[in-house]
Amino acid sequence: MISEPIENLRSQLIQMLSTNLPTSALEWHPPSSVCVLENLFCGNCSRCVDLDLCSPFSDEKTGFRCPHCNALISKESIEELLLERLSKMVTAFTLQDKRCVQCKQLATRFLSRYCECSNRFELVIPKSEFLETLRTMKSIAKKHGLSNVEFAVQWQFNCFTL
Ligand SMILES: [Zn+2]
Ligand SMILES: [Zn+2]
Repeated sequence: MISEPIENLRSQLIQMLSTNLPTSALEWHPPSSVCVLENLFCGNCSRCVDLDLCSPFSDEKTGFRCPHCNALISKESIEELLLERLSKMVTAFTLQDKRCVQCKQLATRFLSRYCECSNRFELVIPKSEFLETLRTMKSIAKKHGLSNVEFAVQWQFNCFTL
């Protein structure tokens, strides 16, 4: 017999999976959330923490600290996560769907410029938002001296602003 909480969880999961959000958009982080790393594991207190890289309480001198036990979280692990996030975001932006400005239907044919209702398609993730997100990420990297991330973001920036 399945208890009720598990049943609830299951229906919630089914709901989440059946949303018609384009899959690529699920990997998207808007500028406002790009600086928050979620579910980071702290090796010292063994807890999962959310780390706000834009927090005014951390800079290059203090480093990243666990909000529970104040242990130092290595710069390398932060860089690794940010680089992974960057590559997912670039993929999400590049492979994203287009949507009709009027009826909000997703474009089914890859190269079509107009919807069946004869209105044009727009990107689900606007380019301006994508560039804004890159800018936010770059300023985080600069502030914390994450040179690998800064270099990778700049490289993407050059590719998309040609
Ligand atoms: Zn900790
Ligand atoms: Zn349409």
